[in-house]
Amino acid sequence: MLYKEPAPIKDRENPFESMMSRFNIAAEILGLDEEVYNVLKTPTRQVIVNVPVTMDDGKVRVFEGYRVIHSTILGPSKGGVRFAPDVFLDEVKALAAWMTWKCAVVDIPYGGAKGGVICDPFSMSAGEMERLTRAYTQALVDTFGPDQDIPAPDMGTGPREMAWLMDEYSRMKGSTIHAVVTGKPLVLGGSLGRVEATGRGVMVSAMAAMDKLGMDPAKSTAVIQGFGNVGAWAAKLMSERGVKILGVSDVSGAYWNDNGIDIEEAIEYKNNNKGRLEGYENAEKISNDELLVSKVDVLVPAAVEDVITIKNVDQIQARLIVEGANGPTSYKADNIINEKGIMVVPDILANSGGVTVSYFEWVQNRMGFKWTLDRVNERAERIMNESFERVYAASQKYNVPMRIAAYIVAIDKVAMTYKYRGGF
Ligand code: GLU
Repeated sequence: MLYKEPAPIKDRENPFESMMSRFNIAAEILGLDEEVYNVLKTPTRQVIVNVPVTMDDGKVRVFEGYRVIHSTILGPSKGGVRFAPDVFLDEVKALAAWMTWKCAVVDIPYGGAKGGVICDPFSMSAGEMERLTRAYTQALVDTFGPDQDIPAPDMGTGPREMAWLMDEYSRMKGSTIHAVVTGKPLVLGGSLGRVEATGRGVMVSAMAAMDKLGMDPAKSTAVIQGFGNVGAWAAKLMSERGVKILGVSDVSGAYWNDNGIDIEEAIEYKNNNKGRLEGYENAEKISNDELLVSKVDVLVPAAVEDVITIKNVDQIQARLIVEGANGPTSYKADNIINEKGIMVVPDILANSGGVTVSYFEWVQNRMGFKWTLDRVNERAERIMNESFERVYAASQKYNVPMRIAAYIVAIDKVAMTYKYRGGF
């Protein structure tokens, strides 16, 4: 009998509900008309695939995968592919919608999509990962396309998987098509600056917000929850701007140092330790829960959804939350955050540096020309700062928190484009 990965246990809050509740508030403030509301509230297309993969032991396992296209109003849909044991369809739907809003907030010509495969990348060999990535690509060859739907890395995937995806797609089409996917290795048409782009954008957003709040980075402290690609780069770049990073965490727990964590050293430790901080010694071990409510100025959740919830929001002490992850705050926690006067730079703004540089990668692929790192960073920083100001201005105009302001900016842009296009 074929072995199939068990369906994930859904004891978490529903990220799609979290997305919709903010969407509804912004839609009401904007007076969004019913036609547009109905178009935007459900994804355009949801594809579920079941792909058989031969494992190293010779047995064939069937993996369930998804690709959800939320919207193509602004252009071809864009969004990462998540490989995780607990990924589920409602999560992928929320992540796809967040991509629509994210691309609209930073004003790049993409719609939103997201992919997912239920699997455990940490327990799979490179060969198994390659066969799975290629099988997933084959199953979705008619969905993907440089003018149609452009995947990218997300949790559990990186440049290596994007190379396989590009290669498999190109083989099936009979020619090399770089622009079908972003986040590729540099030698395969990747862009300089893409790997660190999300973390860099988090840093730029944090600096912009601190400026508005009159906080001096050199006199401020922060904790970073999640030390993967986004968290580690955000920590490094924020510490280079003078912010003292008192704690960092990953699935192995949280690590605290009153004098500040030496981020370069922690990254090196992690890189030599299979990507984990487990056993990191130059810090006191605390729990992830303690880290989130610790006494710091800035909290950067940079891992998964729903870590700031009604269970811990009361105890949060930070003045500023910069969301490196997608959906780290459950909608039920929003009101208390607002009552406490905490400023939140929401996910669809704070972590949009990644998709912005993905867009640059796609542009370079289509031009057949490579930009310098300085050009990439300068343009990404300009877009992030302009987007921050746009959202900040909307928050003042409508007298709403930054999160609702970001949704207002995004929905307004998508709705206006829909009107010009005359629907479908
Ligand atoms: N997965 C990233 C995100 O959630 C990047 C998506 C992309 O570059 O298309 O924003």
